[in-house]
Amino acid sequence: MCGIVGYVGGRKCLPILLSGLKNLEYRGYDSAGVAIMEKGLIEIRKESGRVAALENLIDTSSFLGTVGIAHTRWATHGIPCKENAHPHKDNSNTFAVVHNGIIENYKELRQLLEGYGYSFYSQTDSEVIPNLIEYYYSKREKTKENFLNAVFKACKNFKGSYAILVLCKDFPNMQIVAKKNSPLVIGVR
Ligand code: GLU
Repeated sequence: MCGIVGYVGGRKCLPILLSGLKNLEYRGYDSAGVAIMEKGLIEIRKESGRVAALENLIDTSSFLGTVGIAHTRWATHGIPCKENAHPHKDNSNTFAVVHNGIIENYKELRQLLEGYGYSFYSQTDSEVIPNLIEYYYSKREKTKENFLNAVFKACKNFKGSYAILVLCKDFPNMQIVAKKNSPLVIGVR
């Protein structure tokens, strides 16, 4: 099982995310990644190996964003490698997701989405999450409420366990979290 961490606030999020990942590293350390909202786009960096390998890859001074999510992985579906590392994006690059847990029915969901023309670039169960969210979101107006509804509808389809953090490029100042049978703690200050 992995560790996930997210931040929304007034401070640069990258140092907070990296320090969160280091604290959570005991939960998984085959790969690590971050997604940060930067000037209206979701920037993703990931690397196989320990959090230190990810940190070495990133030029920390170039990330000013204050909203982000991060993951340290312990693979359940798909080998440990960069392609399978989280965060995962949907096909339209609108969403990024980190996931702790197992989507037991991911094969059916993947087949369904492939039938609608979606492509998959990893072997993970997790990659269906951003794509199913996009499937629901793309049918409606781009509103916060529809972002929330799309996450809610996607979650209703997932069998298994999850704690997820979701970024949407259309709403750069927020993230949505959801959980079922996996731990998730939210801190407010
Ligand atoms: N099932 C997901 C994967 O294999 C998440 C694993 C984890 O919780 O680290 O990528």
